[in-house]
Amino acid sequence: MVVPYKHEPFTDFTLEENRKAFEEALALVKAELGKEYPLIIGGEKIMTEDKIVSENPADKSEVIGYVSKADQELAEKAMQAADKAFQAWKKWDPAARANILFRAAAMIRARKHEFSAYLVYEAGKPWREADADTAEAIDFLEYYARQMLRLKDGVEIHSREIEHNSFTYIPLGIGITISPWNFAFAIMAGTTIAPVVAGNTVLLKPASTTPVVAYKFMEVLLDAGLPAGVVNYVPGSGAVVGDYLVDHPKTRFINFTGSKEVGLRIFERAAKVHERQIWLKRVVAEMGGKDTIVVDNDADLELAADAITQSAFGFSGQKCSACSRAVIHEDVYDEVLEKVVARTKKLTVGPTYRDNANFMGPVNDQAAFDKVLDYIEIGKQEGRLMTGGDGDSSKGYFIQPTIFADVDPKARLMQEEIFGPVVAFSKAKDFDHAIAIANNTEYGLTGAVISNNREHLEQAREEFHVGNLYFNRGCTAAIVGYQPFGGFNMSGTDSKAGGPDYLLHFLQAKTVSDMF
Ligand code: NAP
Repeated sequence: MVVPYKHEPFTDFTLEENRKAFEEALALVKAELGKEYPLIIGGEKIMTEDKIVSENPADKSEVIGYVSKADQELAEKAMQAADKAFQAWKKWDPAARANILFRAAAMIRARKHEFSAYLVYEAGKPWREADADTAEAIDFLEYYARQMLRLKDGVEIHSREIEHNSFTYIPLGIGITISPWNFAFAIMAGTTIAPVVAGNTVLLKPASTTPVVAYKFMEVLLDAGLPAGVVNYVPGSGAVVGDYLVDHPKTRFINFTGSKEVGLRIFERAAKVHERQIWLKRVVAEMGGKDTIVVDNDADLELAADAITQSAFGFSGQKCSACSRAVIHEDVYDEVLEKVVARTKKLTVGPTYRDNANFMGPVNDQAAFDKVLDYIEIGKQEGRLMTGGDGDSSKGYFIQPTIFADVDPKARLMQEEIFGPVVAFSKAKDFDHAIAIANNTEYGLTGAVISNNREHLEQAREEFHVGNLYFNRGCTAAIVGYQPFGGFNMSGTDSKAGGPDYLLHFLQAKTVSDMF
């Protein structure tokens, strides 16, 4: 009997014992830095000459690990290994597959801070963000295991006197998981393990800036009893290995999370049927966001200011759900802006691997740093700089939390995903106008409304076109099983990760009608 699902609690770092335990985990991980990591193909560990160098974004001189890099030949070997493993894995009792996930979750829980410490070093996460990332990875394992138990016997359908009909789910085949660096543990683990518990085998290509935490996860899966070849760890350049695997005729599905640009490329390439391919590939593509918090004139303005500040600058705005647009009713515009600017000026930026003092760490890498600073320059043309506006990449990639006021809703700053600590404010003349501005992007991932007006909240429920809508709170921090996550329009295929339908993306339903 499996106990009901409950999400993993977050760590309270105000408690001395937790702080100490986390510092010990950071020390443990520091002692492991700079190691070499192999690929894992069919259970075989393969060291390559060519390596990805994973760096600490808060201190470029510090190498987290040298990670072997798959080329097309090794990607092909992984494809063969996944094919072979699929023949056995698809026949495993789904409950036995789920058990491996439960076991892996327990193993990670026992070493929770160690995983979070890797995220601090490799992804530059502040402690609480790293802790939430690890908690979410555990949640995905616990939740998807239970979902498989729910689906394993299929669904009741109708039969007549002369027949018995059954409706069951079977796996698809070999899938490619391509994951981003921003939830280097949770999304990487969730998008790998959901298809796996459903009976598929997977080639995991993690983001090139965060491959070490993915390797540590692979170790847990193998220790938990996952058979060789069910997950194959093939880090490598997205452009080289990614295209090859997406195009491969044996690829049955692609589970992608990342930018719109790469998502569209995968979607288009996957649509082409190659020689020897006997199916249409399924694509799950969860992509970018341009997420808005709307503040009504009748609203708790302290709550509004907290929600905007936290959602815009938590993890330096590097969440697909981050608030990058604040749309404020004109009656309260100046007051909300002033409150958010005051809160933002108090936020500290700096390394997070020594202590828990800084609210924000670095952005991901040089490319992210350059991109965000370019947008800040654009912002200086398009709006009024209220605070921030600068960065320092001499040691790590640090950017100040930045606010632009009075930005036109059609300006680039209000339309394009920046993926950094920058938020633009726009003024709305009434609530209808605010919702119209909120909806005027090509994305549709998250949004929030801060209002005391029930009628307006109900209007937003109908009209605010996003996959995840929140009332009277920020627009980040969805929890597995509680707020299934996925976006509309160019934010992706709305797969709703951490939701009751998610596993169905990696299953096909079979109807058998038995005549008497
Ligand atoms: P990205 O640049 O699109 O990369 C995502 C993954 O795609 C990486 O593993 C990358 O590999 C790989 N890739 C690159 N080119 C490829 C190709 N031609 N074929 C196959 N794979 C390829 O995104 P990111 O910078 O890692 O992540 C940030 C983006 O993800 C943002 O847009 C954010 O909004 C989005 N995101 C969305 C969600 C959601 O649930 N909707 C969640 C998190 C993040 P390399 O690292 O080797 O380039």
